[in-house]
Amino acid sequence: PALELLVDGGGAVAGARGVQRQSGDTWVVRAKAVVIATGGCAFQSRALGCNVLTGDGHLMAAEVGAEMSGMEFSNAYGLGPAFASVTKSLFYKWATFYDEQGVKLEGAGSAFGRSIIARELQTRRVFACLDRADEQVRVWIRTAQPNFFVPFDRLGIDPFTQHFPVTLRLEGTVRGTGGLHVTGRDCSTSVEGLYASGDAATREMICGGFTGGGSHNAAWAMSSGFWAGAGAADHALAKRRAGTGRLYCAGDVGLRDTSHNLPFDSANVVKAVQDEVFPYERNWTRSGDLLDDSLGRLDALWTSLRTSAPARGAHEAVRAREAAAMVATARWMYRSAQVRTETRGMHRRAEYKSIDAGQRHRLISGGLDDVWVRRKEVDTGLVPAEHQGAHA
Ligand SMILES: Cc1cc2nc3c(=O)[nH]c(=O)nc-3n(C[C@H](O)[C@H](O)[C@H](O)COP(=O)(O)OP(=O)(O)OC[C@H]3O[C@@H](n4cnc5c(N)ncnc54)[C@H](O)[C@@H]3O)c2cc1C
Repeated sequence: PALELLVDGGGAVAGARGVQRQSGDTWVVRAKAVVIATGGCAFQSRALGCNVLTGDGHLMAAEVGAEMSGMEFSNAYGLGPAFASVTKSLFYKWATFYDEQGVKLEGAGSAFGRSIIARELQTRRVFACLDRADEQVRVWIRTAQPNFFVPFDRLGIDPFTQHFPVTLRLEGTVRGTGGLHVTGRDCSTSVEGLYASGDAATREMICGGFTGGGSHNAAWAMSSGFWAGAGAADHALAKRRAGTGRLYCAGDVGLRDTSHNLPFDSANVVKAVQDEVFPYERNWTRSGDLLDDSLGRLDALWTSLRTSAPARGAHEAVRAREAAAMVATARWMYRSAQVRTETRGMHRRAEYKSIDAGQRHRLISGGLDDVWVRRKEVDTGLVPAEHQGAHA
């Protein structure tokens, strides 16, 4: 994995440095442009395929001064069995949801009614059964998404007839929309030589404050990857005659000596962040007082990392950077959520239950020691004319 970006004397991004897990060796790539394509941040919630998505690219980018956008749209939760990581939720459209006694939970549903599941899960277990699927659908969905059934088959559970416990796992910005602020149609960022694509970049231009499942996420990953790659290549070509001067390592927390060199316990840091971002009462629906409460601890956690010792060895370095990235991501998320005093897209505020037409702007955020958020008018120049008006 990449651990940090390299910059030239003028602050332009000029490569990356990382480690090879198997050998523990360090690698360095000098490049006149870099595309961040590290995906979103799902806070190691064990949502399907997401435990490698810890916001590393966001941290690396922020260390060279890049900005985020839409980080309040970061509370996607995937629905799945409580005993498995399979947060594929399409088939729950045929589910009925029940309490432990088998009483139907009125209003609970996957596409509509997930808030009721989140509310119930705060105090008791919730069960599902795909009992609304007829015989034809049952046969079809087994072939449509075979991996959906693997955990059921392993445990000998028939999801069409038996009630099974469900949970909501945080998928954060993976099926949220916030990410690196894209400033040009070539997916450039606010930092020279740095480009962003896929889930690492904000997807507000294509779907506003809500993505959910479906094709637009992969479509964005592929198209933004193409644009970012082309943009980065053009940039590198334009700079090909630039000197090959000294480069500087831009990474900090978890990599460099500090004044105190206190031990960096990555597992504890991850747990501390999860305690702030997993609870439905803090993140599914946000409220000013709980955001303040969490930010107090998250800010203190960041400060403690700033006095921690650098990681020893490749494995520890990867873990330390993942943990630090999660702390940073949580702080951009919650600071942005504090500023958006309305309910819009996936961002829900307990005190402001409806959309506010006066807040039809982006929230740009950034900073590491001091996290900041500013409002920005929606830049319609990034959206093709035929789609203008469609974005949230
Ligand atoms: C359960 C689930 C179901 C989904 N279903 C759909 C769907 O049906 N349709 C759809 O369009 N989208 C769907 N999505 C969303 C879709 O998967 C993502 O939008 C898409 O994978 C994003 O692609 P990406 O390349 O930007 O990031 P990713 O596919 O997440 O890839 C990022 C890569 O970066 C690597 N990485 C992370 N940190 C580092 C580092 N420091 N150094 C080097 N590498 C690093 C990771 O290991 C990973 O391989 C789903 C998501 C989930 C979680």
